[in-house]
Amino acid sequence: MTLEVWWSSLAAADRDLLGLLDVGERARVESLERPADRGRSLISAVMLRVAVAAHLGIAPAEVVVDRTCAECGGPHGAPRIVSDSTPVPWVSVSHSGLLAVVALSPRGPVGVDVQRIGDLTDPASGREWVTREALFKAGAAAQADDGAAAPPSLAAAGVAVHELRPPFAGYVAAVVAPAELDAPRITHWRLDA
Ligand SMILES: [Zn+2]
Repeated sequence: MTLEVWWSSLAAADRDLLGLLDVGERARVESLERPADRGRSLISAVMLRVAVAAHLGIAPAEVVVDRTCAECGGPHGAPRIVSDSTPVPWVSVSHSGLLAVVALSPRGPVGVDVQRIGDLTDPASGREWVTREALFKAGAAAQADDGAAAPPSLAAAGVAVHELRPPFAGYVAAVVAPAELDAPRITHWRLDA
């Protein structure tokens, strides 16, 4: 089974794509003040649907995404796919600067993180930063901001860290997924839009 990674850019964020989102996602996009934030939110939500739809063999608008926050019950939590068909893929989404990335794991939790290096206080720490965030999102690290590198229990936890090569220069990215999965298969979605 293969880990899937999908990339797109802010340039693909067309208003026409709003029609693919559900009511909550559309409200979230339209509530954002800055056009760049709206664009990143739009392209991330749409690409998540497109990737899951391709995986499940359904239409993007048919994908059901639950974003219930584990902390407060609000609609801003990490996305989870809801489906009657089994197995349901695990997903993770990240965006930074001009790039958005979606990771899809057919089995077990996945965490992905992309970061524009220029936005970091310490650009030299970019690789550690995205690795830590990806581990946290995959549930493989207890804390995202404790400054620790990959926990020693990583192998025992059965997860693997894959460094990703973002399609644009000036970014770093990593994905964490079950070690049993094949190396990530990369899809560039409307990257030339
Ligand atoms: Zn919350």
